[in-house]
Amino acid sequence: AKGAGRNALVEFEPALAARQAERLVLRHDLRQALAAQQMFVVYQPRVGSHSRQVASVEALLRWRHPDHGLVPPDTFIALAEESGFILELGLWVLRQALQQFALWRADPAVPVRHLSVNLSPVQLADPGFPAALHALVQEFGIRPGELELEVTEGALIQDVDAAVTRLAALRARGVAIALDDFGVGYSAMRYLNRLPFDTLKIDKSFVFAFGVERPALAIATAIVALAKALDKRVVAEGVETPEQADLLQGLGVNELQGYLYGKPQTPAELARSWAGSAPA
Ligand code: C2E
Ligand code: CA
Ligand code: CA
Ligand code: CA
Repeated sequence: AKGAGRNALVEFEPALAARQAERLVLRHDLRQALAAQQMFVVYQPRVGSHSRQVASVEALLRWRHPDHGLVPPDTFIALAEESGFILELGLWVLRQALQQFALWRADPAVPVRHLSVNLSPVQLADPGFPAALHALVQEFGIRPGELELEVTEGALIQDVDAAVTRLAALRARGVAIALDDFGVGYSAMRYLNRLPFDTLKIDKSFVFAFGVERPALAIATAIVALAKALDKRVVAEGVETPEQADLLQGLGVNELQGYLYGKPQTPAELARSWAGSAPA
């Protein structure tokens, strides 16, 4: 067993070194990525759990690196957070998404009525963020309730008092708050009644585990009950099968998001799919 362990270590080291070298390259290239127009925003539809019609979209950032192709957001968002570049990048995403949303809203053939944008904990902690957000909301004429910001709950429990103040400041500007990836990692359960938010997002790992791991459905049931008791809306992500959709609808989940209803797509791709279906 000792021998195998040593071999595993020898094989692992070059891979680790290569990974770290790649991170260094990406960290460097990330700074030019916006100016070089390598970044773009895609939008994933969300449907009402009863109507199964598109009601809203979540904006998701993409980076097409000239040599490495599409870099996973989990990788480059973390790099941008470490360097602080996420402040600029996050505002860029917000501007792009609000601009696109304003176009969609003006078009009666487009069903999108709400927009969700992910917010990094680094952005939430930035004292300048509420004013910058307010300026964008004004510029694009965003009405109360049209924009929702998704924040991962783990980011909120390190300093609950600060989180309460910051989230309240955003909600005071008519922006809704969703707790993203709910139920994974550190849980804000203990503080849930204190946090000002509107929506709970059930993490896709629970949905994937339906019918595979026995507790998954029980946990989802409990999350929905908790959300309802607190008078919050619930969105489930990672919906890939009609069985998952029906289970979630039965639990009382308000909106469904997942590959079953569409992958994250460019506005042009979405326009093609909406042109194919009759307008409501
Ligand atoms: P997230 O906010 O939890 O976004 C949901 C992720 O689940 C997205 O991955 C989406 O493509 C994926 N997904 C949705 N439905 C399904 C499904 O049915 N099956 C499977 N297998 N996956 C599904 P993506 O786009 O790779 O984004 C990963 C994460 O990167 C996001 O997780 C979010 O935490 C972060 N991210 C993406 N864009 C932004 C951004 O503009 N700002 C910030 N701060 N974070 C972002
Ligand atoms: Ca999200
Ligand atoms: Ca999520
Ligand atoms: Ca996530």
